[in-house]
Amino acid sequence: MLITVGELLHGPVGERTTDAAVLVRDGKIAAVGPREAIVARAPASVARWDFPGGTLLPGLIDGHVHLSFDASAEPFTALLASEVPTPGLLSAMAGRAGQLLDCGVTTVRDLGDRGAAAIRLREAITAGRVRGPRILAAGSPLTPPGGHCWFLGGEVADEAQLRALVRRNAEAGADVIKVMASGGHITEGGAAMWESQFTTEQLAMVVDEAHRFGLPVAAHAHSAAAVASAVEAGVSTVEHCLWMDGPDGVDRRTAVARSMAARGIAVCGSLCGYDWRTKLARDGEAATRAFYDRLSWLDELGVALITGTDAGIPQAVFDDYVSMLELYAWLGFPAERVIELATVSTARALGLSGTTGRVAPGLDADLVVVDGDPRLDLSVLRAVRLVVARGEPHAVRGAEERA
Ligand SMILES: [Zn+2]
Repeated sequence: MLITVGELLHGPVGERTTDAAVLVRDGKIAAVGPREAIVARAPASVARWDFPGGTLLPGLIDGHVHLSFDASAEPFTALLASEVPTPGLLSAMAGRAGQLLDCGVTTVRDLGDRGAAAIRLREAITAGRVRGPRILAAGSPLTPPGGHCWFLGGEVADEAQLRALVRRNAEAGADVIKVMASGGHITEGGAAMWESQFTTEQLAMVVDEAHRFGLPVAAHAHSAAAVASAVEAGVSTVEHCLWMDGPDGVDRRTAVARSMAARGIAVCGSLCGYDWRTKLARDGEAATRAFYDRLSWLDELGVALITGTDAGIPQAVFDDYVSMLELYAWLGFPAERVIELATVSTARALGLSGTTGRVAPGLDADLVVVDGDPRLDLSVLRAVRLVVARGEPHAVRGAEERA
């Protein structure tokens, strides 16, 4: 496959080629560079798409989704209807995977379900039976009895149970272990968002057991205390990271953030477009900035950021990825930097640097072509003309195709 474009963004800020081409072979990027040089290297029989007004960039990454939730007010109904994922649930999940792909999202990290639903979908996508992005899946998140998302089947009461669940998830094929370090707002009766659910020692046991299987740990943590414990325990990523210390209080701890930066612990804001735009309309600019600028603050302290939407929870839909990126632009991140976050930086934080996140020879061919230049305006990322996921073309629109 040969793709030619007016502009090619390799991923890192400042790395671009004008009048460029990419050659794809066996699912991998075989060559990238100036159009004439790459075209000369392509076999005569190659399938070719030309987008003279288009920009090609690496496939986008959503670092926090729940494919088994349906983004409605009662998002778990279908998932909880049966102990094992039903054909109906898996087919709905396949539809959501397709929506993500159509938005240019070629990699997702699924941070929690029940009955290994996302692992099942991952296997169907890898086998080519379903079209969708690459999936990293967590399986059942660890939580105390009755704790945040207990109904996903991950209740653990002591060290033995905690280690056993990590092992069970790993043996089921999990790519990452998810632990609910603090309470959350979607579970009735459990710990509050600003309360810890596990001690630092327990979180360290989760990390220890996960590392036995070579797996990273993602910690859901809304509270400052839970963030601090998770960092001390050595998790790989912190989800949400609101630094809450009470129903209304916030306690951003600089020393903890510096430790995250030093230890390479990344933060996923896990935020959807609907939430920030609703907050902006309801509470005004100052309150919205005060809530979300923890991301700018973490960035200034050198903490790696992961782009993620939490798609699946109420109002977090699967076909509005770009609105999440637009929050970063609203906060003052340059558009080209946001593209870097959504590709190279998130790939690195998820341990996928050698696989995806850049347009570079040898990596998987995860590519998006959009109309116009997203460095000037992120909204053009909605004008998707072509998505290539591990070498498979999807959503080809308006290309000048030649045989
Ligand atoms: Zn989540």
